[in-house]
Amino acid sequence: MNLHEFQAKGLLRSYGVPVPDGGVASTASDALRVAKELNSDRWVIKAQVHAGGRGKAGGVKVVDVFSDLYDLSANMLGMKIVTKQTGAEGKIVRRILVEKATDIQQEIYISFLVDRDSEQHMIIASSEGGVEIEEVAEKTPEKVIKERINPVTGMGQFLGRKIAKKMGLDPKLLNKFADVANKLYQCFVDHDGMMLEINPMVVTGSGDIVCLDAKM
Ligand code: ADP
Ligand code: MG
Repeated sequence: MNLHEFQAKGLLRSYGVPVPDGGVASTASDALRVAKELNSDRWVIKAQVHAGGRGKAGGVKVVDVFSDLYDLSANMLGMKIVTKQTGAEGKIVRRILVEKATDIQQEIYISFLVDRDSEQHMIIASSEGGVEIEEVAEKTPEKVIKERINPVTGMGQFLGRKIAKKMGLDPKLLNKFADVANKLYQCFVDHDGMMLEINPMVVTGSGDIVCLDAKM
């Protein structure tokens, strides 16, 4: 089963994973109401379709001025998103996620999957977030970090810190990263996930870690 971003984020939130505050809207007036409730001065509207690469296809828009929100939402609702994963026929946007815009300092990549050969879980991470991991693997394979997780013993703080160090994260962030990675892993395990991908996970201007996208 494929979850929409807003559903995956709701699940992650219940595990204590930091995700931006937000709500779903299916009309432009809904979007205004959600944005008002968010108590922010910048928003992001995001097409809820099953496809990555929405950003490049016009399915993610930062809104800096409240008076622009209605029209931008109205334009996105009903639009057709065409990406590699949707095929040429594309997908019509029926719902958008209205979120607080996050102040991004650094974008990183993290995912969990089941390695069939070893029957173990794998964590894949990279300091190069926000782009497709296949692209990173092709151009700069040394920037893709892979570690096995023994499903019996679980992940633990040590492995999280090790990965953060390998990515070259600010030493102040090692524990925060390990904490979020462990919560993500717990959610992945509890739901018998095949794949959980956060791209991007970001470091904010105030030194927090937030998951901006979620694919499950
Ligand atoms: P997709 O992977 O489908 O293109 P993402 O959710 O990854 O969609 O969004 C694309 C980009 O938009 C992200 O890499 C990030 O830079 C930006 N973005 C997404 N959500 C937010 C947010 N809440 N605040 C600020 N920027 C965001
Ligand atoms: Mg993404």
